[in-house]
Amino acid sequence: MKLEYEVLPLRTKYRFTIARAAHGERYAVWVRLTDEDGLDGWGEADPSPYYGETADSVCAALERYRAALEEARDPLAVQEIEAACLDDLAGAASARAAIVSALHDLIGKRLGVPVHRLLGLDPSRAPWTSFTVGIDEPDIVRRKVREAVADEFPILKLKVGTDADEEVLSIVREEAPDVRLRVDANTAWQPKQAVARIRALESFGLEFVEQPVAAHDIDGLRFVRERAPIPVIADESCVRATDIPRLVGAVDGINIKLAKCGGIAEALRMIHTARAHGLSVMLGCMVETSLGIAAAAQLAPLVDFADLDGAALLAEDPFTGIGIARGRIHLSGEPGLGVIRR
Ligand code: MG
Repeated sequence: MKLEYEVLPLRTKYRFTIARAAHGERYAVWVRLTDEDGLDGWGEADPSPYYGETADSVCAALERYRAALEEARDPLAVQEIEAACLDDLAGAASARAAIVSALHDLIGKRLGVPVHRLLGLDPSRAPWTSFTVGIDEPDIVRRKVREAVADEFPILKLKVGTDADEEVLSIVREEAPDVRLRVDANTAWQPKQAVARIRALESFGLEFVEQPVAAHDIDGLRFVRERAPIPVIADESCVRATDIPRLVGAVDGINIKLAKCGGIAEALRMIHTARAHGLSVMLGCMVETSLGIAAAAQLAPLVDFADLDGAALLAEDPFTGIGIARGRIHLSGEPGLGVIRR
């Protein structure tokens, strides 16, 4: 297979800030694998500096994979290609995710079926997706919430972890009294502080809290879960399937992202591992284009909570083929990921 890739700058509608970091420039890397018949499969890498990746490191990882990919003849051999070419996952998860997505897109195109059909899934069973509101000045939060309400998003996810949390959640409830509400602290709190903060915010009607404490602090997650009135979901603490057993009892569920775990195949392993341990499963994303979101969305029928709004945060989306209307994810019925360039 021939490997090609292109770095795409991503511009968000608003500056996007979370408790861990405010982000300026962002890039996606668009990966294309072309087989001997000239069919091509597409994938997207959405590198996150937090997980040790940049657009440059993605390109470097792709170059490391190039020879093995060009030798690989059979795109259906996903597990074999993962094991043979893509074994250095550390610091290259989003690069690997892009290749695995491109392989699935190519397989779907070769067989003439959408990827979710290859996986045996019914897209109508996907949960609604939330819309994420980053940390911002109160008047900007109000504007974002109004836009989300105008777009009829039934679920909002608020980034929290500052002294303004109560003020911001009050604004959300003024503008959207009936919306389902989740919060994500992105590691902002110490365990005792987290319990106090969650109790203080509970009256706003929260479904769950994501990553209240530091990623490495599994005992802290357990402390919070045993005392908090709402479920606790691990995100930064849960990168790949091997992280799941030690989280059992410490959290109620995990948040899976393709760019974090290394792609569709590892995400499936995580979903089944989590289910075997009685954990709920959320499917999230980075700020991504519709190409990245389409890959994750193929798995959405398997999860309890979806947070696949990454492309909705963009000022311009270079791809199309997947729609999110009123929080409903509409997958293309086209073969593969069903995504085309605008
Ligand atoms: Mg999160």
